[in-house]
Amino acid sequence: MKQVFSDFLNLFFPEVCMACGNSLYHGEKVLCTRCLLKLPRTHFHNHAENPVTKLFWGRAPIDYGTSFFYFRKSSKVQHMMHQFKYNNRKEIGVFCGKIMGMELNNSDYFNDADFLIPVPLHPKKKIRRGYNQSEMIALGMAERMKAKTDFNTLFRRVNSSTQTRKSRYERFENMNGIFGLRDGYNLEGKHVILVDDVITTGSTLESCALTLLQIPAVRVSVVTMACALQ
Ligand SMILES: [Zn+2]
Repeated sequence: MKQVFSDFLNLFFPEVCMACGNSLYHGEKVLCTRCLLKLPRTHFHNHAENPVTKLFWGRAPIDYGTSFFYFRKSSKVQHMMHQFKYNNRKEIGVFCGKIMGMELNNSDYFNDADFLIPVPLHPKKKIRRGYNQSEMIALGMAERMKAKTDFNTLFRRVNSSTQTRKSRYERFENMNGIFGLRDGYNLEGKHVILVDDVITTGSTLESCALTLLQIPAVRVSVVTMACALQ
């Protein structure tokens, strides 16, 4: 009965693929099978030295970095990320997070992680958007990994919305001191994965990593859903 009803609804409000916009078939969720197989993947998590890891060299001593999709202008990945970030489709993050978690479980660089820490949004921004997209990705990842989510330890101090036109150095200056650590964490000696939606210059993640690296013997890695590296 439920199935009949949802088929009926689909006649009028068909569920569509968040990347290509085509109608989804039974059993498909969020992405159609074709997009699931064809969206451009980096496979960086199979290589210790990759463009994401290297982006942090000389900036923050992270262990490993990876992204899942290549992000190009006017691409299906961009369309999907836009739906995810600005169109209230938080299920995209959970769905992709699960796939990412499954694959990271098969990567020796990431499968020993203890905690997943999303890049925090400023509380005002979170209220405006309704959710923190990085938290959604981390929730999906946690369903497939032994690592647990920690949404509390790392927090954002100030709202930094207008920084797109600044240089990398100015941006770092701007980012410095933006994030803080709440007392009561148990991250000493743990392997922590920082989670974000897109990596571009890496300034935000660098600042988060440097904040977490104040914790004794902590190891920090970085995972994002998409990368838009120049
Ligand atoms: Zn599709």
